[in-house]
Amino acid sequence: MQNRSDSNAEKHLPYFETLEALKGPGCALCFIVCDRVRKYLDHLIYEGITDPDFREQFNRDRGFCLQHTRQFMESGDGLAVGLTHRDVLASLVRELQSEHSSPPVDRRTKPCGICRVMEETEARHIKVLTKYLEEPEAKAALMKSTGFCWPHYEKLSRTWKPIPGWFRQFQIRRYEELLAKLDLYIDSQNIKPDQPRRVLNQDQKLVWKQTVHALFGDALFLGIDRAGPA
Ligand SMILES: [Zn+2]
Ligand SMILES: [Zn+2]
Repeated sequence: MQNRSDSNAEKHLPYFETLEALKGPGCALCFIVCDRVRKYLDHLIYEGITDPDFREQFNRDRGFCLQHTRQFMESGDGLAVGLTHRDVLASLVRELQSEHSSPPVDRRTKPCGICRVMEETEARHIKVLTKYLEEPEAKAALMKSTGFCWPHYEKLSRTWKPIPGWFRQFQIRRYEELLAKLDLYIDSQNIKPDQPRRVLNQDQKLVWKQTVHALFGDALFLGIDRAGPA
């Protein structure tokens, strides 16, 4: 059996990032992934745009997928967006001019460089979670959290075999709580003339966003793109 100090020595950044993310709202894995994407885009805009390896890969991929192009554009850096897409447009023109080339592929729904970064981040943290989530510190942090979104619970349960009964029950409880909260919200919108209007707090008013986040993942549905303090 592994002793405590060996186990602690192995716990690198992903473990502590996970503990921190469990303190935030919504699914911890969604926030870690979203935070990684935000940092990737920040780096790209401030330093990475001139990196020849990045430019070559970006050009080969024909840019990012639709979702990540939108996020790149939301950074508001017209020059960074313009420079990177200039290469793509120039290649497209060259390909169309060449008689023998196959038509360029519509790449909007294909995984892009940022999608690959997301997948790597997700896989690394899922591995850490399945290894350490039963330890008291991590388990206590999880119990105080809102739990995982459905896509991440599903991925966790595919990796973590057999999935512990307590974890499954915890997730079911969180989804049931969300359902009850959503019913309360829907009820509050259904105004009956003979009944006083129910007053909801800010958190209760946002349950429709929390529901979409729980079903589809993506921290952006909650309007937050960083895990923990910026
Ligand atoms: Zn998630
Ligand atoms: Zn993408």
